Amino acid sequence: MSTPILLLNAGSSSIKYQVIDADDEAVIASGIVQRIGDEYGTIDHTVAGTTHFMERGFPNHSRALTVMVQLFNEHGPALSDVVAVGHRTVHGGAAFNSTTLITDEMLEHLRELSPLAPLHNPPAIAGIEAARRALPDVPHVAIFDTAFFSSLPAEAYTYALDGTVAKTHGIRKYGFHGTSHSFVSRKVAEFLGRPYESFNQIVCHLGNGASISAIRNGVAVDTSMGLTPLAGLVMGTRSGDVDPGLHAFLSRQGGMSIDDIDNLLNKKSGMLGLCGATDFRDINDLVAEGNADAALAVDVYVHRLLSYIGSYVAVLGGIDALTFTAGVGENNPSIRKAIVNRLAGLGFVLDDAANDVRSKEPRRISTADSPVAVLVVPTNEELAMARETKAAIS
Ligand code: AMP
Repeated sequence: MSTPILLLNAGSSSIKYQVIDADDEAVIASGIVQRIGDEYGTIDHTVAGTTHFMERGFPNHSRALTVMVQLFNEHGPALSDVVAVGHRTVHGGAAFNSTTLITDEMLEHLRELSPLAPLHNPPAIAGIEAARRALPDVPHVAIFDTAFFSSLPAEAYTYALDGTVAKTHGIRKYGFHGTSHSFVSRKVAEFLGRPYESFNQIVCHLGNGASISAIRNGVAVDTSMGLTPLAGLVMGTRSGDVDPGLHAFLSRQGGMSIDDIDNLLNKKSGMLGLCGATDFRDINDLVAEGNADAALAVDVYVHRLLSYIGSYVAVLGGIDALTFTAGVGENNPSIRKAIVNRLAGLGFVLDDAANDVRSKEPRRISTADSPVAVLVVPTNEELAMARETKAAIS
């Protein structure tokens, strides 16, 4: 017997999914629907080690879900066995600070939050609506990227803005990637054999999107993403922090519209804007070939990350552990080395050989006598979502 939970992550043009057994946490099936809204889309559905591929036009999320259900019916596992569905939901605003059972009323409330996350919440809501129609007899829950950061203190989440404007529009720091920061920080405690609530740590989630969190005795006290997931670190295509005056400047001097600026900062900036590549494998190759733009891009990336780590060490008044996770954090020893070596003065000592080891397991990359433990801990957002869903329904 197994207890399968379906996990859905609906983006604007894709739906990623996994079925995880809530009992032994094994992945039973996984897949991705891509290019929703285009003339031709694809689904890759993997079950028992075999990937089934289908090409088909998906005008919307509802149609994509219908075809996904067909693939489940043809190749398994049986969706009738699924006990619950967990939906990754980017923005919970100030209202949703934990995993929440989805009801009509709750969904109405979630729709009202869409202006806070116009790129992320509408597709998630479309995915939720389609999945509730496809699987009407099981509980559906929403797992919020913002929830882990609902503990931020007011001095960290408040922007220095006119209070009335901020209040009217719900403008504050919310933070994102919370499922990953929560999962990884708990793993750190497990790995170090210390109670979660007994030490200070910093987690660097460095993937295509990137964010960093400061966690004091098991409570998140600061993070780099803000009102939107655009703030903070340099990312694949997102700028991270820029001067807040940039919008007005580009509008007046560059004649750019708000949509043009939004598109520039979200889609054409970050590593892509700096050197024309987003993937660190390509960027590392460019650096090795002597490409000056790529070298500068890496320097900017490292400088921004260092500035945040330094600031969070100060916010926490000292730390016990610094952890790298997600695609770049888990797979790029040269970025980790560039960071940790520059933190030598603050008590970080890298073990070069350990840093070069490739592994899917949590591991220590600092020397045994380094005052601060430096770790690499692979994230697993789907597993974290499965645990959240299981806890929410039981
Ligand atoms: P994520 O968003 O967590 O899936 O991370 C994706 C990013 O991780 C890619 O764009 C790459 O920059 C980086 N990445 C993944 N695998 C590797 C690798 N083997 N070496 C260097 N960077 C990698």
